Amino acid sequence: MAESKSAALPLGYAPRRRPFAGATILRRPVRINRAVARPAEFREPGRRDVRTAARPLGVRRPCDTPPAGGAPGRHAPAAKILLTPGHRQRDMVEIPSPMHPMTTLYITHPAALDHIPPLGHPERPDRIRVVDRVLEQEAFQSLARDQAPVCAIDRIALCHTQDYIDAIREAAPTEGMVQLDSDTSMSPGTYEAALRAVGGAVLAVDEVMTGRVANAFCAMRPPGHHAEITQPMGFCFFNNAAIAARHARDRHGAERVAVIDFDVHHGNGTQDILWADRNVMYCSTHEMPLYPGTGAASERGEHGTIVNAPLRAGDGGDEFQEAFESVIIPRLLGFRPDLVVLSAGFDAHMRDPLANINLLEPDYTWVTKRMMDVADTCCGGRLVSLLEGGYDLQGLARSVAVHVTALMRG
Ligand SMILES: [Zn+2]
Repeated sequence: MAESKSAALPLGYAPRRRPFAGATILRRPVRINRAVARPAEFREPGRRDVRTAARPLGVRRPCDTPPAGGAPGRHAPAAKILLTPGHRQRDMVEIPSPMHPMTTLYITHPAALDHIPPLGHPERPDRIRVVDRVLEQEAFQSLARDQAPVCAIDRIALCHTQDYIDAIREAAPTEGMVQLDSDTSMSPGTYEAALRAVGGAVLAVDEVMTGRVANAFCAMRPPGHHAEITQPMGFCFFNNAAIAARHARDRHGAERVAVIDFDVHHGNGTQDILWADRNVMYCSTHEMPLYPGTGAASERGEHGTIVNAPLRAGDGGDEFQEAFESVIIPRLLGFRPDLVVLSAGFDAHMRDPLANINLLEPDYTWVTKRMMDVADTCCGGRLVSLLEGGYDLQGLARSVAVHVTALMRG
């Protein structure tokens, strides 16, 4: 099986790494044919996607203002507006919120489809389409749904420098595509998608920390865990999970937050950001050696709050579960987080083309439930899950289905 996986690597990950130089990108953008940048299939009229699907798009909220979360007395469910396709503003009807404290919230936004990679790139809009499609099924009708707002820049600045944020904004092309490294590129829709990916994470934290929902799953792209303080990498621009963790502390009074990353790649960016942060624990299982090359067990951070549990190529559910039970969970229980944030990558699935770990759906059910156990024990079940990788569409959809089912305590 390893042979077929190797053969299936379309472009893989580049060896790390070159310094990010926004100015260079601005002067010498690598343009590709627009027809390649935006293949016709992404714009086919009537094609079913999260924008055109014949179902309620979910709860509509003021998307372009930063959430006010954290204010006392906001625990009561707010009135929500359901928007069905074709309805204009005057057709909207306010209805009482279906949310209650046992609800799982699903967050996405059609802007996630407008971050267009080069043709054949594994981190592609169809990933969000298959996730959204599977969560339309009958079993998920009780999910609360919301759209990912554009994130306020001051939230991103919790983890990235202002110069870096400016450089990413300025690197975004108005047409075509710019290549930031051999894996990571921007199309005209990338910057908004990245802002909404962070915005979804921040909204998830707001809703969970204020008790309006029990937990939340945010399916946005681009992913975030490779993005370092001043460096885009590995399909990532802003570190959604690290920002979510810092936001919980900054706005909601959380003393300690834990980020648990079961993506098959090490979250070098999250580790970079949180290296000297004694209040946010970062725990990761990942294949090693593999891109990005970090994540040895000896990498522990300045305060011992980095917990790496590397796996080897060919490992499966037994080794994965053992890493959690023997290494990660004891550290989490000792740390007693006030919020659990999952960097939920599903590329350790057996079917995934980018790595060689052999997890199956029951392993994702297991890890979700164990992380919920930790959250139940430490912080009233408060858990926010953010999509990272997962590049086999069938493996991704099935894994997300069992992950969200577990979040719904199904
Ligand atoms: Zn990954």
